Amino acid sequence: MSRIFEVTDKVRAHDPHADIDLINRAYVFAANAHANQKRSSGEPYLTHPLAVANILASLHLDDKSIVTGLLHDTVEDTAVTLKDIESRFGTEVANLVDGVTKIGQIRFTSSEHKQAENFRKMILATAKDLRVLLVKLADRLHNMRTLGFLPDHKRSYISQETMELYAPLAHRLGIHWLTQELEDLAFSHLEPEAYRDLSGKMADHIDSLNRTRERLEAIMQEAVNRQGCQAQVQGRMKHMYSLFQKMQRKHLDFDDIYDLVAFRIIVEDTPACYQTLGVIHSLYRPVPGRFKDYIALPKPNGYQSLHTSIIGPDNFRLEVQIRTEAMHRYAEDGVAAHWLYKNDDLDASDQRNFQWLKQLTELLRDSDQPIEFLENVRLDLFVKEVYVFSRDGDLFALPRGALPLDFAYAVHTDIGHHCTGVRINGQSADFQTRLRNGDQIEVLTNPEQTPGRQWLQHIRTPRARQAIRQWFRREERDASLRIGGEIVQEVFGRRKEPGKAVLAALQCADMDDLMVKLGRGEIPLERLLAEAKRSSPRRLNLQGTEQGLISAATCCLPLPGDAVLGHFEYGQGITVHHQECAAAAEEQAATWMSIDWKPEKGKLYGTSLEIKTKNRQGMLAAVSGAMAELGASIDDLRIHQLAGDMTTLVVLIEVRDRVHLAKLMRGLRKVDGVIKVSRNMQLRQHEGAAQRIKRRLSAMLNRKSTEQGEHSDKEKHDA
Ligand code: MN
Repeated sequence: MSRIFEVTDKVRAHDPHADIDLINRAYVFAANAHANQKRSSGEPYLTHPLAVANILASLHLDDKSIVTGLLHDTVEDTAVTLKDIESRFGTEVANLVDGVTKIGQIRFTSSEHKQAENFRKMILATAKDLRVLLVKLADRLHNMRTLGFLPDHKRSYISQETMELYAPLAHRLGIHWLTQELEDLAFSHLEPEAYRDLSGKMADHIDSLNRTRERLEAIMQEAVNRQGCQAQVQGRMKHMYSLFQKMQRKHLDFDDIYDLVAFRIIVEDTPACYQTLGVIHSLYRPVPGRFKDYIALPKPNGYQSLHTSIIGPDNFRLEVQIRTEAMHRYAEDGVAAHWLYKNDDLDASDQRNFQWLKQLTELLRDSDQPIEFLENVRLDLFVKEVYVFSRDGDLFALPRGALPLDFAYAVHTDIGHHCTGVRINGQSADFQTRLRNGDQIEVLTNPEQTPGRQWLQHIRTPRARQAIRQWFRREERDASLRIGGEIVQEVFGRRKEPGKAVLAALQCADMDDLMVKLGRGEIPLERLLAEAKRSSPRRLNLQGTEQGLISAATCCLPLPGDAVLGHFEYGQGITVHHQECAAAAEEQAATWMSIDWKPEKGKLYGTSLEIKTKNRQGMLAAVSGAMAELGASIDDLRIHQLAGDMTTLVVLIEVRDRVHLAKLMRGLRKVDGVIKVSRNMQLRQHEGAAQRIKRRLSAMLNRKSTEQGEHSDKEKHDA
């Protein structure tokens, strides 16, 4: 069992300025918090955080990391809150403890190998600070060392998680010994028989292997010394899991594995590495194609070394690694070694080819102080995704900044199309809510729901954008087809169709093509009539906006239900004018069609009214109040002062259809002071002033509800 003074001694040894008092206080605090708790082994719970702190001290981590190691289970497992920790140990420690707690809450739910990478990234994103991850790894290491006391199902779950998530993370951080120990421990629980078998064979061979190791160590050490190099030769056994993997991968038996023993030569500097390589190669024949120069070309996690295989005495093949002390320290402790081991050799290797940790080393290079470096290591910088769960616990990786609809479309296109809302972590949320790591999202759907144009504002992923655009294109095509079909039927009669000659002349592949192009207005009606030698159709039946293919003319703003005429605008479908519109009367030609225009459920249409009233206070309030009461919303309102005692109000309103408008007009005529209400069909004359007046309108309406509230009430009463 670890003791706190062992931990503090280790910390003091590598950092004389460390806050030992803080560590001691954290120890006492943890001891009190866990006072009555025991581990599955029966030991006092405190042994666990103490062991974790000890592991962290061995990694030469800073005092705050050690304190976090001591406190890491208090928030999760005791009555202690983050606030308690913040008030006693400061914000930095509280954030670190919070980070460790959050990683602990991630549940590894997938057995799919490819999902494991997403889980690993999610842990990185959640950890945010490199120290959080290192504390979590130390925590996991001690739990794995004491795993034997847990029931079977827990052991296999935790071992699986260790193998899939934590060992690979330790590997990425370049902490060699930790990767190996985690792998071997997980291996022993996941494949107990293979593990027993392999460790038995190792034991059988251990004596002869050790003799070989000692003999070769001596031979190589002497050869290197003779060249005048300061070098240290170490032989070591390969770790179990890497042997097991090699046997599996290459279908080998234990006896076929030649590199059970590997040698490592630690030298003074980089030139000595290559010099030593020459010495070894002149001593033993190298195996062709086995030399690797990881000094010139480091591994993605920053690892540097020279690797070679040689054919030793008795045709015994051996692997030899040659590296400097700094490279060795990095190979063993990975990034943890970076801020501890200041060495010229490391600085000289600035150009190393980091990939995954490229940004990390840049931060390192820019900082003189280890502590500053630690604070700058934001692990979420490496992760461009956000990781969220479906209701069933499936993990989804989305780009950062993704919104609920992106998630819905990631689950399935149809889930996206029919999405009516979402619940995030059990709370209903709107479409603008940014998704956060670990969110659990439930998508609510309704088959009646379909995408709206405004959805394009609430998505970030190309997948969702494409799906929504595709939906609109399909809808638009359906609408074009329907309108084009109507036109063809009106022009040719119910039983006939245009012949092949007409299709060819209009460059249409088939009837569908013709109908779509007619519906969109890509083929003007007059061209069809000319080719087919027909006269203009009488009447079309249309509904609503037909996916944007039908639009109301802005001069007269007709409503569904009005007597309307339509004509094609090239590529934009049909523009509908009121029959009494001046523009329609002027431009009317043979190709204008009369249209039976029906409203579409739930949609509103803009139109305009002219209201002549007596000029008196509170009139505006009375008129707008009456309109609101009748379910019309005002888009714009202009006031024209007339001579004498009269005022004309010109309003832009939204109503459901002609029937709704008629009801509204009747209601307005009953308002005291209103003299005349009529449709306004010459909007173009007023268009210039529209924007200016729109701005004034909202101010006016606001004043109405405060200053003139009394009048308004009274007049409403009168009406
Ligand atoms: Mn723990």
